[in-house]
Amino acid sequence: MPKGDKGEGILTLVASPIGNDLDFSPRARSVIEGADLIAAEDTRRFLALCSREKMSVKGKIFSYYDQVEKGKAAKIVDEVLSGAKAVLISDAGMPVINDPGYVVVNEAIKRGAKVTCVPGPCAAVTALILSGFRADKFCFEGFVPRKEGERKREFEKLRSEERTAIFYESAKRLEGSLKGMEEILGPNRRICIARELTKEHEEVLRLTLGQAAGLKGIMGEIALVVEGCPPRKGEAADFVEEAERMAREGARLKDAVKEIAKREGVSAHELYEKVQESRRGK
Ligand code: SAM
Repeated sequence: MPKGDKGEGILTLVASPIGNDLDFSPRARSVIEGADLIAAEDTRRFLALCSREKMSVKGKIFSYYDQVEKGKAAKIVDEVLSGAKAVLISDAGMPVINDPGYVVVNEAIKRGAKVTCVPGPCAAVTALILSGFRADKFCFEGFVPRKEGERKREFEKLRSEERTAIFYESAKRLEGSLKGMEEILGPNRRICIARELTKEHEEVLRLTLGQAAGLKGIMGEIALVVEGCPPRKGEAADFVEEAERMAREGARLKDAVKEIAKREGVSAHELYEKVQESRRGK
């Protein structure tokens, strides 16, 4: 493979549009045109981008997707360490964010190779800022798990999650996920369905889970944003006495814990454990 013509080698993670070619940045173009090698998630899609953008690419192009990351990352870093300018680009958005890149970034860090990024569109961040929900603290959860049990566990965590949460979801699973979410978080939790962001048919729906229950036929690429729960009034441990009192007054401990957890926005599991801990300590 050719080496960088001068100076130090570098690996650059380059963002690409998530639906609107006008979001491709001049700096992304310049870095791609100056690269010695380009690792592209899908080489055909990358070549289509080059052709739409009329880029003259001189570097070697090769495919770099999740299944081959482990095998190819070390070779990319070898090249960078011997002076090559390498680019990593995924099909859409920021590399690494539910896209290839994590392995090579870590390989580069481990071996002291220089890494930088040409930032750009990211569906998660775009959906977050359009949702109108708090963006000072948020968490990105990636794709909603496909398996029912895992999905349930993921949504259970949101009961007491105060930060805004962002998911990626496919259109065909959206209805099921919204239903599952409503069963766990109730009809009043607010969500935002951001679909086809930056594209001609961009649509941002801001609803409660109850309102979303009737939605049918949502198509396209989707990012789902869930508003955090109201700030907790206390920690689970603060409600042990109250749970014990309710139990003494005849409630089943599990019901008492559930009721308090729902009202106070604390984790039912944590509160139950705290009660058991306190009983063991007596
Ligand atoms: N790396 C990308 C990024 O920075 O956003 C994400 C790649 S992930 C494999 C693809 C998922 O992102 C899609 O299935 C969809 O959930 C979400 N997504 C991508 N483009 C989108 C768009 N234009 N509008 C809404 N969601 C989008």
